[in-house]
Amino acid sequence: MRFHREARHSAYDVIVVGAGIGGLTTASLLARRGRHVLLVERHDRPGGYAHSFKRRRYRFDAAVHLIGGCENEAGLIDRLLRGLGVRDQCEFLPAHPFYSALYPGFRLDAPTGVDEFQAAHVRAFPHEEKGFQDLFQLCADIAQETARAPDLVSLADFARAARRVPTLLRYHRATLGQVLDDTLEDPRLKTVFGTLWPYLGLPPSRVSFVYWAAMLMSYVDGGAYSCRGSFQRLASALAAGLREAGGELLLKSRVRRIRVESGRTTGVVLENGQRIDAPVVISGSDATQTFEELVGPEHLPRRFMRDLRAMRPSVSAFVVYGATDLDLRRAGASHEMFVYKVWDHDQDYRNLLRGHISRIGLTVPTLSDPELAPEGEHVFQITVLLPYAWPRPWREDKTRLMDLLLDEAEAVFPGLREHLLFAECGTPRTLERYTLNHQGALYGWEVSPQQVGPLRLAPTTPIEGLHLAGHWTQPGGGVYGAASSGVMAAQHVLGYDREADLWRALDVAPAT
Ligand SMILES: Cc1cc2nc3c(=O)[nH]c(=O)nc-3n(C[C@H](O)[C@H](O)[C@H](O)COP(=O)(O)OP(=O)(O)OC[C@H]3O[C@@H](n4cnc5c(N)ncnc54)[C@H](O)[C@@H]3O)c2cc1C
Repeated sequence: MRFHREARHSAYDVIVVGAGIGGLTTASLLARRGRHVLLVERHDRPGGYAHSFKRRRYRFDAAVHLIGGCENEAGLIDRLLRGLGVRDQCEFLPAHPFYSALYPGFRLDAPTGVDEFQAAHVRAFPHEEKGFQDLFQLCADIAQETARAPDLVSLADFARAARRVPTLLRYHRATLGQVLDDTLEDPRLKTVFGTLWPYLGLPPSRVSFVYWAAMLMSYVDGGAYSCRGSFQRLASALAAGLREAGGELLLKSRVRRIRVESGRTTGVVLENGQRIDAPVVISGSDATQTFEELVGPEHLPRRFMRDLRAMRPSVSAFVVYGATDLDLRRAGASHEMFVYKVWDHDQDYRNLLRGHISRIGLTVPTLSDPELAPEGEHVFQITVLLPYAWPRPWREDKTRLMDLLLDEAEAVFPGLREHLLFAECGTPRTLERYTLNHQGALYGWEVSPQQVGPLRLAPTTPIEGLHLAGHWTQPGGGVYGAASSGVMAAQHVLGYDREADLWRALDVAPAT
């Protein structure tokens, strides 16, 4: 990859700040539709949280484990790559099972596939068959209405479309916990159904039901996938789509300022002082940085800044990246394992806020993609959610915490310690340092009912010509959410009323 620290030109149609999945998506789509695009990224590679790194003979995804939307013809990620002409650059590998839920004395391997997922839960909790089917149907309705409503960005849009999206309107303020209480009786099934909550960073009692249902069904219905060779390949494919369409990716370059004159953006200033003009700037980077530092609050309405400062970022995480020659498949590993010591997600959440560990996430990507490690070896990640605020400097605590997490993993895979070949860790500060996400937030703003969908930041801003993409903006966190936001931003800049028009213009069939 070539590094350009100076942009080649002094003016572009569009400048995109940050090559996370949202920034890459919007930049490549706009280039493909003929705009002269510059994408500026401060890291030495594209991807943001979706980047990967190599240590010795091991390749690690820095953050992302599994994504949805990769299924042929129907999935957003598949459609995006086809629209950019780079579908052949990524191979997605389905995870079987989707995840394993481990609680004291209990294990459920949750498969993908609507019927299979339901059957696995009903088998474990036969007395709750009716309640589970009602709950699952509700999730399916939400997912269907979400897919039908890509162009609704404000509450007013939703109200106008009430007949098309009745379930979304009815549940937009609900938490998953409320819906579980309405539909199920058995507290254990409620807990087991909520196993995936670390994927959204809030326990069932606080997480948005609508976002939960859309995420769950995207995985269950469409499949949960890793990317052969790591998710860096996905980021690199999007970057290739940008370049093949004549766009420019400027790496190792930080945007220092988004210029604003008379209420509209006129371009950016880079860290090296280079001024670059553009009538459209799209920020795919952290929202607090975008408005507080790059734009400056003096250019924004007071009310907008007040609302922004009142929003809550999602939680952060501590990650151990390890390698072993223990036969993890024989040891019962699956690609994604959630190992809980308690049956109460609220208690687990309170514990994590205090830095106590009552759950770990174990990811073994080499089960699907052996190329990530030499033959006979595995790479794995141990992930725990943690608050950004930590009482002591991380250099004093990180080795101790890594040790503790390796002990927790040893309890699941006896012998792991003895067969450990490599281990390194990343703290919330590491996540922040690599991506500039405020407080190392995993998913942008907290995925609460008050901060998802139309209540998250819109793709347009009070500054004319300034747009947003990425997980701080609509619809929400995760790779799928960030890619959707990039599509929305491109659609707005290109002036298409409907997302489907963008896909048609790219010769790709829109979702049905
Ligand atoms: C530990 C962890 C595990 C996760 N697991 C999953 C998972 O399994 N599945 C899933 O779907 N999601 C997962 N996520 C969430 C997902 O990775 C993110 O929601 C998503 O990738 C965010 O994409 P983004 O477009 O908002 O950009 P980001 O990834 O936030 O990237 C922003 C980019 O902007 C750049 N940037 C910032 N400021 C500037 C500037 N001033 N100038 C130039 N460049 C700048 C940064 O360097 C960065 O590259 C996980 C996240 C974490 C941290």
